[in-house]
Amino acid sequence: MTSAKFITFEGIDGAGKSTHIGYVAALLRSRGLGVVTTREPGGTDLGEALRELVLHQKMHLETEAMLMFASRREHLAQVIEPALTRGDWVISDRFTDATFAYQGGGRKLALEKLDVLEQWVHPHLQPDLTLLFDVPLEVARARLDATRELDRFEQEKVTFFADTRAEYLRRAAQFPARFRIIDSTRSIADIQTSLEQILGAL
Ligand code: ADP
Repeated sequence: MTSAKFITFEGIDGAGKSTHIGYVAALLRSRGLGVVTTREPGGTDLGEALRELVLHQKMHLETEAMLMFASRREHLAQVIEPALTRGDWVISDRFTDATFAYQGGGRKLALEKLDVLEQWVHPHLQPDLTLLFDVPLEVARARLDATRELDRFEQEKVTFFADTRAEYLRRAAQFPARFRIIDSTRSIADIQTSLEQILGAL
């Protein structure tokens, strides 16, 4: 029997996460698997309310980090853990790596503080697979500018995204068994081929 897996999509804004989530979910469903797609911050009613706050309201950096983990606690309890227990696969658009990358790398909150929150909120559970969509900043910016109104994070300056991307890549190097880096400058069709291979192996 196949046991359910927890897959997270990571990368800076505009890297292509949302573009590929539907494809991966459809691929897994076509193989007869139950799939739940969700996102962070958010994923629950309370989490979506917290998302509105953190994406649009100024606050102390530590408040921001704790709200991210508060949203995550609820998300784990209400969505992620029950789905995995039922045997459904879970695909989340961002998870804890994003907090390390954005609040740690981008905003410079001490990573040790984030380690403490992670130990508190999910001491044992980690994603089975983390797909890191990686693109140079200019490419991500150009894609974002073309498409949507920017939130509080997306309006940050270039150095913020450089630091966020660097922390993502540092974590990918730290946890090589869990991470796969997707070169997101390639065409959507090429990326889909890579995703199919990675998921086949999983
Ligand atoms: P994210 O969810 O990581 O913020 P999105 O998936 O919303 O990024 O992608 C941002 C924009 O870039 C979208 O308009 C999307 O259509 C476009 N895009 C995503 N991946 C590619 C790609 N490989 N090539 C060209 N455009 C892309």
